[in-house]
Amino acid sequence: MSADPNCIFCKIVAGQIPSKKVYEDEELLAFHDIHPWAPVHVLIIPKRHIASMAEVTEADAALLGRMTTLGPRLMKELGVTNGFRHIINTGADGGQEVFHLHLHVMGGPRPWLKG
Ligand code: ADP
Repeated sequence: MSADPNCIFCKIVAGQIPSKKVYEDEELLAFHDIHPWAPVHVLIIPKRHIASMAEVTEADAALLGRMTTLGPRLMKELGVTNGFRHIINTGADGGQEVFHLHLHVMGGPRPWLKG
């Protein structure tokens, strides 16, 4: 499925809901989290609707590689110089609330760790 009409992140990809974008290309979008847990907190998402890591297949390996390697680049561009976290929550017990795959990338001076 390329877009889910009920998905908030698909609406962000389509420009139907505003976001503070930090990066965009043909298959990825990155934007600031609306409720940041850290001084710098961005979400990196595939534009294509993938509900969660539970739906990912081997065919998505390159896409996931691009998502994870974009994180460090964005942290550097956003002035994060002393480390950062990558987090992906999967499913209800994994703490996932938005069912469109997203990589949280968080940095900036601590303390700010959630949980
Ligand atoms: P959790 O809320 O437990 O972190 P997720 O891993 O599913 O669950 O994360 C969803 C994230 O999406 C949250 O950090 C939330 O603040 C963020 N979010 C929800 N709606 C928007 C939006 N419109 N723009 C930016 N970020 C959003």
